[in-house]
Amino acid sequence: MKKILFVTSEAHPLIKTGGLADVCGSLPKALADLSHDIKLIIPNYQALKTDASVRYLCSIRIDNRNINILETRLPDSPVVVWLVDYPAYYNYPGNPYVDELGEPWPNNAERFALLCKVAVEAAMNRIGQDWQPDVVHCNDWQTGLVPAFLSLEYAAPKTVFTIHNMAYQGLFPASTANLLNIPSQLWHLDGLEFHDMLSFIKGGLVYANYITTVSPTYALEIQTAEYGYGLEGLLEHRNTSLGGIINGIDMEQWDPASDVYLSEHYSAAKLNNKQLNKARLQERFGLAVDASIPLFGLIGRLVEQKGIDLIVACLPEMAKLNLQFVLLGSGDKAFEQQLQALADLYPEKIAITLGYNEGLAHLIEAGADSFLMPSRFEPCGLNQMYSQRYGTPPIVRSTGGLADTVTDSMPETIADKTASGIVFAEASPGALLEAIKRCLLLYSDPEIWQQIQQNAMAKDFSWLQSAKQYLALYDNL
Ligand code: ADP
Repeated sequence: MKKILFVTSEAHPLIKTGGLADVCGSLPKALADLSHDIKLIIPNYQALKTDASVRYLCSIRIDNRNINILETRLPDSPVVVWLVDYPAYYNYPGNPYVDELGEPWPNNAERFALLCKVAVEAAMNRIGQDWQPDVVHCNDWQTGLVPAFLSLEYAAPKTVFTIHNMAYQGLFPASTANLLNIPSQLWHLDGLEFHDMLSFIKGGLVYANYITTVSPTYALEIQTAEYGYGLEGLLEHRNTSLGGIINGIDMEQWDPASDVYLSEHYSAAKLNNKQLNKARLQERFGLAVDASIPLFGLIGRLVEQKGIDLIVACLPEMAKLNLQFVLLGSGDKAFEQQLQALADLYPEKIAITLGYNEGLAHLIEAGADSFLMPSRFEPCGLNQMYSQRYGTPPIVRSTGGLADTVTDSMPETIADKTASGIVFAEASPGALLEAIKRCLLLYSDPEIWQQIQQNAMAKDFSWLQSAKQYLALYDNL
């Protein structure tokens, strides 16, 4: 049995802003299911929600401040959660990282440095709990100082640092290093310094015993200038201690045979009922209810990362084809306006809903024939896995987790029954359009299309698979 301390700035269902929370809520549970002793440490934000009981655990002194640690559990699990309770830093309403206007909280460096310092005390068995982890698993820049500080300790546990998105690095003015009492041994170009700034993420990238990211392809991509944001050299230097492990999905919440948001359930053996969801989806979006028209869906943040500009550029051409397109998302206002204008121009073909709607997301996964995900970069991505599980073969760009989880439909992969979607390479509207046309051709042959759907539905995206890979990694440290 391994003892694992999991350090994170968000975990579903306690607090969530994105995919990081899904991983940090699910992976600890999957590890606990495999009988490991895992504790999670996270700030006690005002917005943090739990129906489990919370008790006072202890107080420690850090930088002349009294910090309380509270204890609760991840709902419906044996996973212990330690909440870092320091009201001056965490007890105000709203998002963990930014204010109402989307501006980072001015004291983010202090807030997350404190999380790291408390995690170090817990990792070194200095909070009076008679518990020392074998491994400390840190996630994203908010936890990057943990491996750095632990590198200065005698007999420290091993550290793993997982990158969920390289685009966020935790960069602060160099003067912040003094404010945070960063030891001078860590302050140099091969340490936490980055172009005259303090870089939290470098703490993880330089000092962790092992670095992971959320897909094998993304692990390679971040070693190139295009995806590495200036850290590609460091990552290449560390490439023998760098690997990718694909995230799992919640196989209960996302199951077409029992999905609580669907009134018509279906499975690979009983695919016919998928058509009923298609009809509901067409109706819901005010499109012609017609089983014979191929229906494409897209759900996601409307930002450049997701290739929304490619979709916008492609839609006028798509509108000339016999197809329908539905979209659910919110994000950049310019994209929202362009998409709305296209929906107004082609009301029989294109329909959009701006906003966040969990139930509608499930209906799109179930009702669409194919799912579009032309991301420019994608560390892992979830929707392409949901799509496959729902027999909705996705069209994806060959990047990051998309490349690792979708098998292109080519003569050989159709023959050996591994084809599960359509994969294209170039981030251009022309390449996307060509992939859509290739999809239409496959769709026009019901026998082949149904086989691709069934191949996709048979794939195992469970957390158990990922958790086993993390355990193997912990064992090898
Ligand atoms: P990212 O974390 O980069 O946004 P992922 O594909 O990894 O992308 O995960 C996004 C998650 O958020 C998925 O579960 C997706 O269904 C969900 N989602 C995104 N936008 C919306 C929306 N507008 N309404 C409902 N769910 C959404």
